[in-house]
Amino acid sequence: MVAIDRSGHPEFKKGGNAMPFVAGLRKSASTMPQALCFGFQAGRILLKVEAGRLSIPTVGDAAAVDRAPPWTHYFGEWDGRPCCAVCLPEELALSDGFTWKGLRELFGQVDEDLVWVAGRAGQLVHWHRNHRFCGRCGSPTQDHSEERAKICPGCGLINHPRVSPAIIVAVVKDRQLLLAHSTRFPAKFYSVLAGFVEPGETLEDCVQREVFEEVGVRVRNIRYFGSQPWPFPDSLMVAFTAEYAGGEIRVDPVEIADAGWFLAGGLPAIPPRISIARKLIDWFVTADGG
Ligand SMILES: [Zn+2]
Repeated sequence: MVAIDRSGHPEFKKGGNAMPFVAGLRKSASTMPQALCFGFQAGRILLKVEAGRLSIPTVGDAAAVDRAPPWTHYFGEWDGRPCCAVCLPEELALSDGFTWKGLRELFGQVDEDLVWVAGRAGQLVHWHRNHRFCGRCGSPTQDHSEERAKICPGCGLINHPRVSPAIIVAVVKDRQLLLAHSTRFPAKFYSVLAGFVEPGETLEDCVQREVFEEVGVRVRNIRYFGSQPWPFPDSLMVAFTAEYAGGEIRVDPVEIADAGWFLAGGLPAIPPRISIARKLIDWFVTADGG
């Protein structure tokens, strides 16, 4: 029996282990050739290939691909190694021993914790590419010397890396979980509902609004579950559980192709293990005794 008000939520973790990443802003240039190079080109990451194995190159390795990349930004240390987010030009020709991969393709190929570090770098490069000019006066921006931000020398506007918060929620009715197939999903799987937070909303307001807009259902007893950076390209997923409070399912056809209530023993195809959507669904199955 699922009882949201009594069952505690286990602490949510992105990977299996505590992530050995420490964020930082400045590092002496002398250590940079040994730094890990998270080099992105329009959403694809540069990887080193050795005997069929993929790895993150060092800044020194990556010099074989681009000697002077347009933007290199130190952002912290992973397992004691400095990490740089690097923006690479789109027209770059690859040297032997290197390949491009989509960020999602890294799962299962390199250490999962390292994939999330690559996700940080991908978000930073995405931000850099989209904030090279001031949105207010059009001047070329510069990296801020004291914080992770772009500053406009023309008008002083400061832009921090963009993070777009979104809620994701497991709605439970009796022993059933609300799942929907979104019109945006590339594959034919069902997931819990999600949506971007609007200016002026609390996260709880957003949960109520998104669930009602997408499927016409009211919820209550909204409880925090956990959060997960989602670098596709720059979201922060904030996860909740909630109880059904009323209404019949009536889908918004623009957003949702199909939605329904599912028993733990009869789930449709669901998202991969890496996502907090899947962690919510797994929580439901476990709470149900499955
Ligand atoms: Zn400006």
